[in-house]
Amino acid sequence: MMERSLDSLRENIKIIQDRVAEAAFQSGRNYKDITILAATKMVAPQILQSAIDFGIKCVGESRVQELLQKYVYFKEKECQIHFIGHLQRNKVKHLIGKVDMIQSVDRLLLAQEISRLSVIKKAVTEVLIEVNIGKEGSKSGVDVENLEELLYEISELPGIKIRGLMAIPPVCEDKKLKENYFLLMKRLFVDLSAKNIYNNIMDYLSMGMSSDYYEAILHGANMVRVGSAIFGKRNYGV
Ligand SMILES: *Cc1c(COP(=O)(O)O)cnc(C)c1O
Repeated sequence: MMERSLDSLRENIKIIQDRVAEAAFQSGRNYKDITILAATKMVAPQILQSAIDFGIKCVGESRVQELLQKYVYFKEKECQIHFIGHLQRNKVKHLIGKVDMIQSVDRLLLAQEISRLSVIKKAVTEVLIEVNIGKEGSKSGVDVENLEELLYEISELPGIKIRGLMAIPPVCEDKKLKENYFLLMKRLFVDLSAKNIYNNIMDYLSMGMSSDYYEAILHGANMVRVGSAIFGKRNYGV
């Protein structure tokens, strides 16, 4: 590994930590109340391990196969491992007992499989419910209209615990439009948390990526998922 790229990795992480602290302060919260998740897809093991050495405490992978390949490298370090990508039911078995959180639960059948396998492994799997906030046909996530019902259904299942909501708002240049998506998510999060559904603690609102994590925090996110702003434009190879 070249010293220079390690230096820029260290520098990128520092910049993000500082901006997260600033956004937290601007929105009346503490730096430590915000989780910075490093999205590590396509990032080589050596580099993701350095990122952890430089202060990253939580990583997210979007493909099951890739997560399994890198699992030993994560485990050599102290970090939380989250799954953040689209998840097929037949792949759930690879994740249970391995990941700290699955952020992309968007349908009952998937939740039932997580529940079933968690019970067998005597584990409780923590999840976020992914919301398709922009109503995009191409994206995963439950529609807003069906969100509350899904929360109630999942909260009755054993071995699975809902910790909050996740969203990937549509790519849009219009700042106001993007803000509206964040605000809508914040409102859903606050309203549904207040319902105290079967005592599930909804304490994470995961939204904001490299281009918009600052704004996401200003509008209520307490977990941001940052990839390219930390690692560069995904050209490291695995
Ligand atoms: C890749 C990825 C991110 C990070 O995206 P960047 O734009 O590189 O910061 C965040 N969330 C999910 C679900 C991802 O797959």
